[in-house]
Amino acid sequence: MTGLNDHLANVHLVDWHRVDWVLLDMDGTVLDLAFDNYFWRELVPARYAEKNGLEVDAARRELEPRFSAVQHTLPWYCTDHWTRETGINMAELKREIRTLIRPIPGVEEFLRMVQRSGRHLWIATNAHRDSWSLKLEHTGLGRYFEHVISSHDFGYPKEDRRFWEALREAYPFEPGRTLFADDSMPVLSSAQAYGIGQVIGIRKPDSGLPARPIPSMRSVETLAELAVTLADERRAPR
Ligand SMILES: [Mg+2]
Repeated sequence: MTGLNDHLANVHLVDWHRVDWVLLDMDGTVLDLAFDNYFWRELVPARYAEKNGLEVDAARRELEPRFSAVQHTLPWYCTDHWTRETGINMAELKREIRTLIRPIPGVEEFLRMVQRSGRHLWIATNAHRDSWSLKLEHTGLGRYFEHVISSHDFGYPKEDRRFWEALREAYPFEPGRTLFADDSMPVLSSAQAYGIGQVIGIRKPDSGLPARPIPSMRSVETLAELAVTLADERRAPR
C-alpha cells in the first residue's frame, strides 16, 4: 500500500515535463522476477540433475560457476547458449511453466497511464527473443509497447555503452528527455553514464523476496509507485 508520505516522496521522483520517452527493462521491472528466479534456481538445476543422474545440490554446484562466469554478458541472457551448455531445451522449458509468468502487481496500471499520456513507451531488455516474445504474449502486455528492443539484436548488453549508441541509431530518441527504469545496478549505471535524463532503480523485482536497497540512485520498490506521479500530472493545469 502507498501511504501519504510515500506519495509525497514519490511526487518529486520524476519530472514528467522532461520525459517524452519511457524505456523499461522487462524482467524485474515490468514482469515479476519470481518466474526467472524459480526457473534458474530451482527448475533448471532439478532438470539438470535428473538428466545427469546427480543430486540437485550437486547439479547446483556444477551450474553456479558457469552461470556467474558469464553474468552481465550476452551469453548469460541467451537461451541458445544455455541449451547448448546444459543439453536442456530452455525455450521449451520456459514454455512449460509459462502460466507462472506475471506482471509485477500494479505495473500494468502504470503502463496504461504512460500510454494514455501519449509518451513513447518501449521495452529495452537483455532477454532473448524466445523469452521476451513468450512473456509479452502470455501476459498480454505487448500491446502497451511501441518497440521491444533486445540487446541481442545489437550484440551488446545494456551494461555496455555501445548498446545505447546502437539503440539510438536504430530508434532515434533524445536521451535527455528519456526516463529509464531497471532493477540491475550495472545497467542503471551504464544508462546514467550514457546520459539518460532520468534513471530509476527498482528495489523489489521479485514479489516473493524482500526489497533491497539501491544506493546512490533514485529508486522505487515497483513502478506502481510512479503511477501516482503521472496521475498528478494529468490533474495539473498545462
Ligand atoms: Mg531486469
